[in-house]
Amino acid sequence: MGDARPLMGTEVSICLWHENIETGEQIVEQVFTEAERIDRLMSTYKEDSRISEINRLAAQQPVVAGDELFNLIRRAIEISVLTLGAFDITYESVGQHYDFRSRQRPDAETVEAERQLINFRFVELDQAAGTVSFREEGVRINLGGIAKGYVVERGVSILRSRGVQNGIVTAGGDSRLLGDRRGQPWMVGIRNPRADDEVAISVPLEDEAISTSGDYERYFIEGEVRYHHIIEPSTGEPAGGVHSASVFGPDAVITDALSTAVFVMGVDQGLRLISTLPDYESIVIDDQGRIFYSDGLEPPAR
Ligand code: ADP
Ligand code: MG
Repeated sequence: MGDARPLMGTEVSICLWHENIETGEQIVEQVFTEAERIDRLMSTYKEDSRISEINRLAAQQPVVAGDELFNLIRRAIEISVLTLGAFDITYESVGQHYDFRSRQRPDAETVEAERQLINFRFVELDQAAGTVSFREEGVRINLGGIAKGYVVERGVSILRSRGVQNGIVTAGGDSRLLGDRRGQPWMVGIRNPRADDEVAISVPLEDEAISTSGDYERYFIEGEVRYHHIIEPSTGEPAGGVHSASVFGPDAVITDALSTAVFVMGVDQGLRLISTLPDYESIVIDDQGRIFYSDGLEPPAR
């Protein structure tokens, strides 16, 4: 049983096996309630979310984040360190000027000014006080590159705590598989980035998280340029060179952030980073449609 609903600007879906239909449906409901709670806490589209409050006030004064948000921001910053700044939640300093639905983008001067404010080192965390402050006026943060992975992890821990052994929780491009598909691994398709319903490659996975970042989720095309939602922190422009980056491994929070980071870093640097992380593997499709695999994977025979 399962269900799919629009949430967090994407679709959240849950699929699980349970011998009791009523209990199963209750569990599904519980996961959606949790996803809605996290969205209310972390959405920059909601004026009254805690993250919006931080963005409004943290340059003037430390703002209490609450344990959960504080810890996720802390993890995001750790991943910035790991990825040499390719993943950076302060991308929002530029990102806030995009509206993909109304094809709105920042002009060159705005990008030039705001990209100076993309730097995770401007975010100061006070562990004892549980507060966040910004070292510069104008800094903004957005957890869009990690929050869906967090929803997925929380969803799966609800399934586990209720005794579910086989299931999937998905939020947009992030999924976590619990157990196998009744004896067989789950086959997870990685989309062809330039053909909506085509699968470029399927990967067998059990008990693992997989995240894909693509330039086809949120974008508009102007002239020859595809303006999409993954921002290269060093330039403030949408990252080029890659059409999609998938990362799998034990934790959906990490795979979510790493897929965004590998997208930004590109094939060589991105796969080199992944090769230093024994639990994580990656598949990258570049802007020529070529497929690249991290060291730990056996590419399919041709
Ligand atoms: P999806 O939203 O399709 O799952 P991603 O996991 O790659 O894709 O997340 C992309 C989101 O991450 C963007 O919509 C934006 O909110 C955020 N983001 C964009 N660029 C960066 C970056 N360089 N570092 C961290 N987060 C980013
Ligand atoms: Mg991601």
